[in-house]
Amino acid sequence: MSREHDADAPDQYGLVGHPVAHSWSPFIHGMFAKATAQNLAYRLFDVAPQDFRRETLQLFAGGVRGLNVTLPHKQAAAELVNEMTPRAARAQAVNTIAFFEDTTLLGDNTDGLGLVADLERNLGVELAERRILILGAGGATRGVLGPLLEREPRALVIANRTPERAARLAAEFADLAEVRGCGFAEIAPPPFDLILNATSASLQGEMPPLPAGLVDERTVCYDMAYGRGHTPFTLWARALHAARTSKGWGMLVEQAAESFLLWRGMRPDTGPVLAALAQHG
Ligand code: NDP
Repeated sequence: MSREHDADAPDQYGLVGHPVAHSWSPFIHGMFAKATAQNLAYRLFDVAPQDFRRETLQLFAGGVRGLNVTLPHKQAAAELVNEMTPRAARAQAVNTIAFFEDTTLLGDNTDGLGLVADLERNLGVELAERRILILGAGGATRGVLGPLLEREPRALVIANRTPERAARLAAEFADLAEVRGCGFAEIAPPPFDLILNATSASLQGEMPPLPAGLVDERTVCYDMAYGRGHTPFTLWARALHAARTSKGWGMLVEQAAESFLLWRGMRPDTGPVLAALAQHG
C-alpha cells in the first residue's frame, strides 16, 4: 500500500549526522512515542557533509515529517531551512527540523532549552546572578548561549582552544549581556558557580588545559558529553572537590522532549526516560 493510503503507517522521523550509529535518540523518541501513544518511527541517517543538502531534502520529499540534526550538520541545517525560530536564528545552528504540510521547513534549536531544563528542573541549579564558564565555542555553545543569557547570569565567559572563535562568538551575543571570549590560559579566578564543558575533548579522552583556582566547593561542573562512567572533565572536577558533577544525559533527553513538542504538539514526561538512561550513565 502506498504511504498516502496507509493510515496506520507510522509518521517518519529521524536523526541526520555523521556518525550517528552511537545515538540514543531512537531509544528516547521510542519511549516518548509509547508513553504518549503516538504512531511514529524514528530512524538514524548517516549522511556525509557533502551529501547533507541533497539527502535531507530527499528524506522530506519521501515523507519524513521531522529530523534532528547533529554533528557536523547543525550550521548547514540553518542554511537549508526556509524558516527559523528566533532562538535558532540567534544561534545560526539548527538541531531540529519540522516539515509542515504547506512545504515549510522550520528549523529550531532545542539544545539550549534542553540544557537549561536539565540544570534547573533536574539538578536544581540556579542560573540568575551566577558566574558561568563555558569551555568550547562550537555548535553546542552556539545553541546554549541564548537560553543561558536569558537567565541573566552575573558573568559569562567562553573559553576555547582557538581563542579567536571564542572572541567571535562572544561578540555575536554581546547585545544580550556582557560575554567575554578568551583562551584557556586567560581564564581567571575567582572560582565559577557553574562550569560547562562544551568541548568535544572528553570524546577524545582529553581534558582542556585549565588554570588553577576556577573550582571551589560551590562549583557545579557539567560535561555535555555523555557515555559510561567518568569523563576526564568530571574526574578533574571531582579532584578539585566541586559541589557536583554531571554529564549530558539530561540535556540529551530534555532537548529531545522539546523536539517532540515541536513535531507532535505535546511535551512528553522526561522522568521515565531519564530513569531508564541512568542505568547506562
Ligand atoms: P563542535 O565540533 O562544534 O565543537 C567542538 C569544540 O571542542 C570546539 O570548541 C573545539 O575547539 C573544542 N575541542 C575539540 N577537541 C578539543 C580538545 N582536545 N581540547 C580542547 N578543546 C577541544 O562540537 P559541538 O559543539 O557540537 O559538541 C561539543 C560537545 O557537546 C560534544 O561532546 C557533544 O557530544 C556534546 N553535545 C551534547 C549534547 C547533549 O544533548 N548532551 C548536545 C550537543 C552537543 P576549537 O574551536 O579549537 O577546534
